[in-house]
Amino acid sequence: MKCEFFRENIWAMFDDEASDAALRAEMEAHTAECAECARFHRQTAAAVEAVTPRCEATAPESLTRRIEKTVRVSHKGALLRSLGAVVSVAAVVAIVVNVALSASPVRAAGKCFGTAAELFENSKTISMLLELRTEPTENMEYIDPSADFVECRLDAVCGADAVVWRFDKGGRVAVSDGRIMTQWLPEQKRGWTGFLCDASIDAVMLANPRMLMVAEREYAATHKGVRYDMTNDGTTVRVTVDAPAQGDYSQSDYMLNTSIAESDNRRVYCFDAQSGRLLSAVVSVRTASGEVEVLRVKSIAYDEPLDAVEVAAVPGDIELQNMLTLDYGSRLAGITARQAAEKIVRAFEKWDAALLDEALVYYGPVMAKVREMYGGSVAVAFGEPFRSGEYPGEFVPVRLVLAGGGICEMNLALRNDNPAGTWIIDGGI
Ligand SMILES: [Zn+2]
Repeated sequence: MKCEFFRENIWAMFDDEASDAALRAEMEAHTAECAECARFHRQTAAAVEAVTPRCEATAPESLTRRIEKTVRVSHKGALLRSLGAVVSVAAVVAIVVNVALSASPVRAAGKCFGTAAELFENSKTISMLLELRTEPTENMEYIDPSADFVECRLDAVCGADAVVWRFDKGGRVAVSDGRIMTQWLPEQKRGWTGFLCDASIDAVMLANPRMLMVAEREYAATHKGVRYDMTNDGTTVRVTVDAPAQGDYSQSDYMLNTSIAESDNRRVYCFDAQSGRLLSAVVSVRTASGEVEVLRVKSIAYDEPLDAVEVAAVPGDIELQNMLTLDYGSRLAGITARQAAEKIVRAFEKWDAALLDEALVYYGPVMAKVREMYGGSVAVAFGEPFRSGEYPGEFVPVRLVLAGGGICEMNLALRNDNPAGTWIIDGGI
């Protein structure tokens, strides 16, 4: 056997499902007679150990539920898009490590990792600078391949039983104390809190490549058309994941390329072969006009001195709405999305606060701004509602004449997957 062949096929030694026994036997025989390839094999084994999950993992039920409840904001045609609602903490991770957790079937690693010590064996803290094509104030998972890169920073501190982290996009900041996630818009001095975090998932993956790989492997196993590939040159382990856009676009491609999960994307991670630490990550999406990088990690620092209290601190002058104690009301229950859209938009004209406080419950902190923009406006046309991508509700096209005389066209994002079954707006305005 030639050494070159051995190196090219080294993964046959580790992939039980893909490799055939005869090839493996030949390769094992080669390691017995070639010291250099034996060494290469040992190095690779160490690298595999560093980035390979030790056990099968499934997401706790609570994670799936939490992800399904994820509030997201649509963006297009939105005058107030930057003031939209909020996303779950999982979406933050989805951006940073590109594990598309916002797709509900995803099962990620969790409880089987046992002790916290094992969970956080690699690092106590991690600081990451990355660039994302997005809008600084938009929700955390939002991408726009045609936008400029925005600098983002992630800091995470791994404690005994929780990860405390902060993700800062400049125009929008999210922090987790390991239990509750809070995010706000610094310029508005308004924000939202009360998102429950699952400490076993969230930012843990950032600090532990093994967790990341569990999630990516699970993702490849549970999503059609996902290809998962690893190479190792002895120094660097490179993992490439090619994934098709998740979600349903049969009615409309409105949501296509608005998040990594909702794009045909390629995620490339490089790990140090010895330590298993993440060295770099790049995500690109395939659009009609070609392949575009939408995320790139600029630097990763491990074990910098970071204070958990400071990392999770929310400035004292931010007015927060608590998502755990929202009053959904029921004025918009038991009707179709289109009927709800008509009621809501017609309520703009004389500003029916009773109805709009329910319909815009997520916009509580920025209600004055919404009223300023839409108060006194008159609806002139409604289009056919449609679904797109992974959004759990419907989009209703609306045209209205603003109080100032301008014409505004938007796709109201409406969902009724709340305990009250009532339609609420979580994007599009
Ligand atoms: Zn050899």
